[in-house]
Amino acid sequence: MNTDEIFDVVVIGGGPAGATAAHELARQGRSVLLLDRAGRIKPCGGAIPPRLIKDFDIPDELLVAKAQCARMIAPSNKHVDIPIDNGFVGMVNRESFDEWLRARAATAGAVRRTGVFEKLSRDADGTSVVHYSARERHQRGEGTPAQVRARVIVGADGAKSQVARQGAVPGVEDTQYVFAYHEIVRAPAQATQPAGFDGTRCDVYYQGRFSPDFYGWVFPHGDTMSIGTGSADKGFSLRGSVQRMREASGLAGCETLRREGAPLPMKPLKRWDNGRDVVLAGDAAGVVAPASGEGIYYAMLGGELAAQAAHEMLATGDVRALKLARKRFMKLHGTVFTVLGIMQWLRRPRRAATHLRVLHEQAAHAQEAHGARAHLPQRHEPPAGLCAGVSELWPIRWLLDAVIVFTVLEGLGLWLYHRLTGQGLAPNDYALNMLSGLCLMLAVRAALGGLAWPWIAVCLSASGLAHGWDLQRRWQRQRSTARSVSRPS
Ligand SMILES: Cc1cc2nc3c(=O)[nH]c(=O)nc-3n(C[C@H](O)[C@H](O)[C@H](O)COP(=O)(O)OP(=O)(O)OC[C@H]3O[C@@H](n4cnc5c(N)ncnc54)[C@H](O)[C@@H]3O)c2cc1C
Repeated sequence: MNTDEIFDVVVIGGGPAGATAAHELARQGRSVLLLDRAGRIKPCGGAIPPRLIKDFDIPDELLVAKAQCARMIAPSNKHVDIPIDNGFVGMVNRESFDEWLRARAATAGAVRRTGVFEKLSRDADGTSVVHYSARERHQRGEGTPAQVRARVIVGADGAKSQVARQGAVPGVEDTQYVFAYHEIVRAPAQATQPAGFDGTRCDVYYQGRFSPDFYGWVFPHGDTMSIGTGSADKGFSLRGSVQRMREASGLAGCETLRREGAPLPMKPLKRWDNGRDVVLAGDAAGVVAPASGEGIYYAMLGGELAAQAAHEMLATGDVRALKLARKRFMKLHGTVFTVLGIMQWLRRPRRAATHLRVLHEQAAHAQEAHGARAHLPQRHEPPAGLCAGVSELWPIRWLLDAVIVFTVLEGLGLWLYHRLTGQGLAPNDYALNMLSGLCLMLAVRAALGGLAWPWIAVCLSASGLAHGWDLQRRWQRQRSTARSVSRPS
């Protein structure tokens, strides 16, 4: 065990984020160790966008398929085919893709080791010590305890990062996750392909039966296919959903090669560094696009930016340089993450409704299987769009209730004062204006309370009508005043 060994940077995790960070640092001439536990293929649909292929020089031979079209399938089963801008979405197998990225980092000068990161400590002069269990690739059982020193550590060890926890990066405990699951199946031979099958098309299902808050996918991978889905709802059966999707797409009979899943972080952490010597990248930093689940490109970009930040910190000795990784990333993609984050939030299911839906689906399956009629509780689908997931908004609803009550009391007070004293505002002057505001607040209240769309539409229409009527009265009054002023007395 060599305790004196020291690297400028130790990168922990050899996925797209870590391998890209190690490659970038080695290219900058830094001494860098890339530590990866290996032995497990990352569960992943493997879809990569054209900009990734271009920006990170991915060779064509790594693409096992090129999807030229994405089919979006609506809850009604209607679909729209969208041709891919700039040609195609590349499909990679993560086993060979990640290994190629790690090998490229090693060719650039990074030292590669296989081992499981265990903990961080500090030596006498305050330098970080990375403790890990070293083992040969694919070796099982206990490894050999080992440690190296590091001036900077890049934590790229994926979702639920141990480096983030050990390195005390603030806010890491608050991360929320979607769980994604997929099955790798053998692609059907020509003769057995179901009707409408196209090995160059990605199918994306936006249907509640496949996911209440995310989407289901069928991605072509040459000889194989990835069929998967995700959800933040722990009560939703992802396995059951994939089974239903396989049936719906005619792929139920295909041989299943692997079943696997992993958590996906739902939004970027507020801090990616610990203000001293740790900076995070990729899933470890929470960087997966909400609602779409795209993570590989953002992991690689995050790895590159973390490497640049580490390089700048080492060059200047200023630890504030570590913050630049997040700052630069957000400047490039912050708006996209905010918009997609809102979409993801709006699609969050209400638990009770989801349980009911799962119950209904199970009962419907039982009916199909046994030809019997099962007793189903009254079905109340959660309203789509704005209303879905708003049950957690009770503080806003209370606040809105308070404003509505205040507005009504204010109107009554004004009316009473005018009636008793003959002074102040006459009800004619404010009633329509107030009614318009009240109806608008009631519409928002109805939406937050999960009421049906007709109620919301009625309130909004009443608000609009009252507002229009009020404007028209004011305009008329102004015109008659103008006329009486211009008339010669
Ligand atoms: C089912 C599923 C489907 C997905 N489909 C897509 C898709 O089609 N397109 C897309 O862009 N994104 C997809 N994603 C997201 C994408 O896979 C991730 O965002 C991406 O892999 C993140 O890269 P990363 O390098 O940050 O982390 P990871 O790829 O998770 O890599 C982490 C690395 O750290 C290593 N590691 C972990 N712990 C330790 C330790 N203690 N010691 C040493 N090494 C360790 C692991 O071995 C691994 O190599 C999908 C995710 C899932 C779960």
